[in-house]
Amino acid sequence: MDIIKPLIRHALYPYMEHIKGNHIRTRITQLLETDKSESASLQKQQDQALKKLLLHCIKEVPYYMPYTHLEPVIIKNPKDALKQFPVLDKKTFSLNPQAFLSVSSKVEDRIENRTGGSTGEPVRFVIDRNTVEFYEACRYRGLSWYGITPYDRSIMVWGSPVEIDVLKNKKAQFKEKILKNRVVIPAYSLKKEEIKSHVALIHRYKPDYIYGYASALFALAQLIESEGLRIDHQLKGIVSTSENLFEEQRILIESVFKTTCINEYGARDGGIIAYECPSHNMHLAEESLFVETVDLNSDLATSASGKLLITDLHNYSMPRLRYQVGDLGKIEASTCACGRKHRILTSLDGRVDDMFITKTGEYVHGHFVNHIARDMNAFETFQVIQTSPEHFDIAIVPKPDTTDGQIEHFVDLIAKKFDTKDITVKKVSEIPKSASGKIRYAKRAF
Ligand SMILES: [Zn+2]
Repeated sequence: MDIIKPLIRHALYPYMEHIKGNHIRTRITQLLETDKSESASLQKQQDQALKKLLLHCIKEVPYYMPYTHLEPVIIKNPKDALKQFPVLDKKTFSLNPQAFLSVSSKVEDRIENRTGGSTGEPVRFVIDRNTVEFYEACRYRGLSWYGITPYDRSIMVWGSPVEIDVLKNKKAQFKEKILKNRVVIPAYSLKKEEIKSHVALIHRYKPDYIYGYASALFALAQLIESEGLRIDHQLKGIVSTSENLFEEQRILIESVFKTTCINEYGARDGGIIAYECPSHNMHLAEESLFVETVDLNSDLATSASGKLLITDLHNYSMPRLRYQVGDLGKIEASTCACGRKHRILTSLDGRVDDMFITKTGEYVHGHFVNHIARDMNAFETFQVIQTSPEHFDIAIVPKPDTTDGQIEHFVDLIAKKFDTKDITVKKVSEIPKSASGKIRYAKRAF
């Protein structure tokens, strides 16, 4: 029996609410109230929050003070006004984060946060407690669609070695178990020799759900399958986060764990952005953020696939408007069978880093080389890496009957598109897979 669950529910949460002024439960209740709201009502609520935030920005945030002339537009139509603010990328923000700090922000209200350093320099920023609570509440609202509560027991497949070192500490393990009702399987220990003990842990600990990176969950499922082991414990679901969840990963994870895979889309510096509903659509967290898409090259609003921009509606300490999280996606109105009217994120199929760039600064989707190769149908597989606007490295795994002429043709089309002759080609017998188990056909490395 799970004795921690009632303890967290009846003691820990009330304690956090009374002593620490934590409002996660209130936020969850709030979000459940608007879970099935009509589109017009969601939009109205969002407009009001955005209006309040934008008025705060032009009065209190140095970076946005030059936009005070927009006040009448903000009052009349905040979403129109928002389009007149600049798109903000990580680089611009990191150059001068102080300019985004609200002049009236109090030190005690700020929570320090930062992104991991795996994809470039970490970004440091501060958020309000309210923002964190909305992030958490959006996650638990999403999980509630699958019968999962904030008190439920979980196993987290997680971690960089640094985070795991902290967890080796007894006090940290105790905190995880008692305060969060979860244990951690370190992502780096997903190896053949340890897989039996991981499966034993799942059977012994009996979690309600498992939570982890898509690639880590996939690796776990692959190992369980290849070692001929099986999971005999019924989970409410398995939550995949932080990375794209590819269809072949989902199929294997669901078959090994005999449960639904739930896709959570979030960013360390953007919070919970969307959650997959039981009808398999990714609904935006409209109460917490305003999400828009702009054209890759022009930064103008688009209804097609484009750069995703996030405006956090509740962060008043350090507001970032139209923040580019680095992913590409498309937003559509919801006609989902689940009844939710929160807009849907589709084509979440890549990162801005997967795009090539021409010498003139134009983005070209990685699909470009994929289409050529697919039409030619001449190679087993291939990979094109752009190392500078002028230079490409191409690796090709040929078929037995691939001719040099076909390879030349492939290279030629890429050379023409990018107006360069500086292309290195080599024939190889294999192309290494990425951490997610997928070959990245197109990759930009600068
Ligand atoms: Zn839905």
